Amino acid sequence: MRPSRALIDLDALRHNYRLARQRHGGRAFAVVKANAYGHGAIACARALAGEADGYAVAFVDEALALRAAGIDAPILLLEGVFDAAELIEAARHGLWPVVHHAAQIEMIEKTTLPAPLRIWLKVNSGMNRAGFPPGEARQAWERLAGSGKVRDCGFMTHFARADEPESTATAGQIRCFDAATHGLPGERSLANSAAILAWPEAHRDWARPGIMLYGADPMPNETGGLRPVMTLESRIVAVRELAAGEALGYGARFVAPRPVRVGLVAMGYADGYPRNAPDGAPVAVDGRITALAGRVSMDMLTVDLTALPDTGIGSAVELWGGQIPVNRIAQDAGAIAYELLCNVKRVAFAWSGG
Ligand SMILES: *Cc1c(COP(=O)(O)O)cnc(C)c1O
Repeated sequence: MRPSRALIDLDALRHNYRLARQRHGGRAFAVVKANAYGHGAIACARALAGEADGYAVAFVDEALALRAAGIDAPILLLEGVFDAAELIEAARHGLWPVVHHAAQIEMIEKTTLPAPLRIWLKVNSGMNRAGFPPGEARQAWERLAGSGKVRDCGFMTHFARADEPESTATAGQIRCFDAATHGLPGERSLANSAAILAWPEAHRDWARPGIMLYGADPMPNETGGLRPVMTLESRIVAVRELAAGEALGYGARFVAPRPVRVGLVAMGYADGYPRNAPDGAPVAVDGRITALAGRVSMDMLTVDLTALPDTGIGSAVELWGGQIPVNRIAQDAGAIAYELLCNVKRVAFAWSGG
């Protein structure tokens, strides 16, 4: 069997959820959209069952998969619903849609629902992607409250730059949100992972931690007590010696500056390891750090084993995990940890600590 696996440590996931909840105070939606950032939404949601106050996903189908798996806690729909049929499903299954533009209010007004909805009204406080303009939040709330379809309305917003503690943008977004929702009754939810860690003023009734649950600090140079959840691993499956001057792999990007002992690893960009990773990106082989050498190909990549003479076929390889932070590979590859984690596929998944 191809030895390429993603090991998911559900104890670490629980540790990180507790840390997020405790740092924030109040309650926390565990954000498990996009298959729990590539970690397996059902396994992760089950590992947090009885502990998570609620979950957040992007859309209805992601939520229904959790309901079918027996998850009965509240589920926030971050993108809201796309049509009336989804609104009915949301009401039937106790999903909490975000309402972020006027067409969604109209849909609520016009649709006969099997139960009253709990919704979250999204205010655009400066990200300018989704949400009601601050000056229209009150009117949107009045329409929803008057619709007869809504039993409870919370207020939320989302930050564009919470991972930049030195930027004033987040403080401005908080002020904007507070002014727009001043005096309106209902719970508040502002903080993503970065705001949980860096912006105490954004700590309100509910947090929405995503990336930090998976052990990657949104401020990539911090660690903050988070434990990595995914280990992406494989093995050395072949070894060869390059003479000085010989090239390795596509495009001959790596040319041996001296004799080099090369290990072939069963892991490629089709598994989610970034093709942009440069020569020198760290790779752990049998517990020691060495370097990627040569361009990553679809199914394989190559590492420099020259300094590790006792490694060979069968040696354990970690691409990221406890030895190599996923943030480090993301930085080297010009990506972010979110993107790398979401992209893991084709490898075998194994969950532990459930
Ligand atoms: C994805 C998402 C989150 C989680 O963000 P992280 O940076 O992963 O913590 C929170 N809120 C909204 C609206 C999101 O879309």
